[in-house]
Amino acid sequence: MVRIVVAGAGAAGASVAYHLAELGARQVVLCDRGPVAGGATAKAMGGVRQQFSTAAEVKLAQSSIRFFEQLGSPLFDQVGYLFLATTEAGLAELEERAELQRSLGVPVEAALAPAGVRADDVVGAVVCWQDGVADPPAVTRELVRRAAERGVEVREHEDAAELDADVFVIASGPWSAELGRTLGVELPIKPLCRQLLATAPIAGLPADLPMTIEAETGFHFRRRGDRLVLAMSDPEPRWGFDEVVDDTLFDDRLARLVQRYPAAAGTRIDRAWAGLYDMTPDAHPILGRVAEGVYAACGFSGHGFMQSPAVGRAVAEEILGLEPSFDVSPYRLERFERGAVFPEEVVL
Ligand SMILES: Cc1cc2nc3c(=O)[nH]c(=O)nc-3n(C[C@H](O)[C@H](O)[C@H](O)COP(=O)(O)OP(=O)(O)OC[C@H]3O[C@@H](n4cnc5c(N)ncnc54)[C@H](O)[C@@H]3O)c2cc1C
Repeated sequence: MVRIVVAGAGAAGASVAYHLAELGARQVVLCDRGPVAGGATAKAMGGVRQQFSTAAEVKLAQSSIRFFEQLGSPLFDQVGYLFLATTEAGLAELEERAELQRSLGVPVEAALAPAGVRADDVVGAVVCWQDGVADPPAVTRELVRRAAERGVEVREHEDAAELDADVFVIASGPWSAELGRTLGVELPIKPLCRQLLATAPIAGLPADLPMTIEAETGFHFRRRGDRLVLAMSDPEPRWGFDEVVDDTLFDDRLARLVQRYPAAAGTRIDRAWAGLYDMTPDAHPILGRVAEGVYAACGFSGHGFMQSPAVGRAVAEEILGLEPSFDVSPYRLERFERGAVFPEEVVL
């Protein structure tokens, strides 16, 4: 019997292992050198959206959304994803993307800013109410629970490189290139440090506040319990494995928040944490077979949580030689030999 080792128990590896078991695979080991959901998955914003700028990425997110819907609240709250444009050029871009998304069946519509979100400088907005916010470590732990229930052996605090396997699945997030090298595969994945900031509790936050994104600046925030969690790209990208919070950015981020969500006036940053995106040259993941007996589910470039249901299923199907329910051909490692294609524009 084939022994499959899934290396990494973040959202990606948990989904691959769960789907392998669901599709009838036996002898599956889900192995993490740390705890379950201890990597990038623990740091994620938890945004789940279908509003991307390339058809491939829209379809990947689309195939995942049903899974999240089935999980339901509190693991996934379908509060919508709202993009606000403050310039005509920004709005034109949003509308162009919305057209592509609608042509693929994503219900994106023109929107008004909801109560509490300042809109006097907004020239237009789009929203998809199917999108929403989730709890990534809780979803991952639930998938691991379901995988274990279906016979997957879960091993924490063990390095996958030390295990014997007929098939390895590299789902090791920002550390995937390192494991790839051990297995004789070069994966063009680089870690990029990103940080999230949580405010102190704010009274009266509406339960249905959508994820709100300023299209031009990329500044965005969501409700998590009685706090708001904020994010925006750093002024200069911070490449490398150091997960360090830059507190010099707090005042700027708070000012942006109060400008967009005036009820947050007077709040402070109560918690902040940094985590790593696993970036590829074109900001798209690397999926499927990468060498004899080696498969990849990595390089998610900041979007892997929302893509993990469809990715897990498609990679599991490929390993088991089944008809893939999702076309992974745009995501093959070989695309980098021809130069990276379809750069995704909406990397938040
Ligand atoms: C600040 C931040 C915000 C984000 N926001 C979002 C968001 O809003 N929406 C979204 O979809 N995505 C978001 N992401 C990305 C998302 O967190 C990940 O893409 C997603 O959780 C999938 O992670 P993963 O399973 O690939 O990697 P990880 O969660 O990092 O898991 C990889 C695991 O592999 C383990 N590992 C490494 N090497 C080995 C080895 N040799 N043997 C065994 N185990 C090993 C690690 O210990 C780790 O637990 C965000 C990421 C960050 C950092």
